[in-house]
Amino acid sequence: MGEAMVRQQVEAAAEAGRLYPAAHPYTRLVRRIGERLARVTAAGAGGGSQGHLQGMAWEFHVIDSDEANAFVMPGGKVVVYRGLIELVRDVDGLAGVLAHEVGHAVARHVAERVTESAWVLAATALAMALGVDVSRVVALALTLPNSRRAEREADRIGTELMARACFNPEAMAAVFDALGRLEARGPGRPDPLTSTHPPSWERVRDCVAHLGEGAGAGAGGDGRGEVVRRFERAECREFRRGLGLATKRYRLPAGPEPARPSR
Ligand SMILES: [Zn+2]
Repeated sequence: MGEAMVRQQVEAAAEAGRLYPAAHPYTRLVRRIGERLARVTAAGAGGGSQGHLQGMAWEFHVIDSDEANAFVMPGGKVVVYRGLIELVRDVDGLAGVLAHEVGHAVARHVAERVTESAWVLAATALAMALGVDVSRVVALALTLPNSRRAEREADRIGTELMARACFNPEAMAAVFDALGRLEARGPGRPDPLTSTHPPSWERVRDCVAHLGEGAGAGAGGDGRGEVVRRFERAECREFRRGLGLATKRYRLPAGPEPARPSR
């Protein structure tokens, strides 16, 4: 069932000339990062029952669309839109996007969602009959049932995966900060694709709290929690040096709660 939906999604985009080929720099970058994150989950990171991850056939696709969106489908097919790549702009941020989607698969949110919603197929069939953009309907159908709990879980697992795969987990907070800014200056009506997600400012806040967990409060404590320290291990410094990947510090929003958009 999942396979069929993936094929529809990917074929619809390919037909419209919107699926980037495997050789495109965006696709290559997304695959490289995604496959590294996927390897980390197969090694047992991310918590939960890992049995279902052994049979995962990960695929990473990029679609040419301005929308800042990404989603994961059953079996481990991850789709990222160009708009989101260009919003996050750096390797760690892109790893944050992918790690969140991989996190959904680790926590089995995708399987739960699909088995619980046969209407996904009905919606897809209806969209095709009406000539509506199937990719958008599939994305919507797969995103709508997401609960805030599932999103929070995927953010948390994703941050852990990033650190283990040697991507700076601080970038996860920076991604939601950038999304929040985009939402704040966007059109007045909320996008149905994102309105089922927790507000971005809330995700930034939760992320910052997670990044600080286990940080020593006393002398020598610099506010960096366990997950950040895991990323700062020697192996990661070597890995990043090999890629010519600088490790920048992300400026995390100060204070207990980042400002909410005014509208
Ligand atoms: Zn999500």
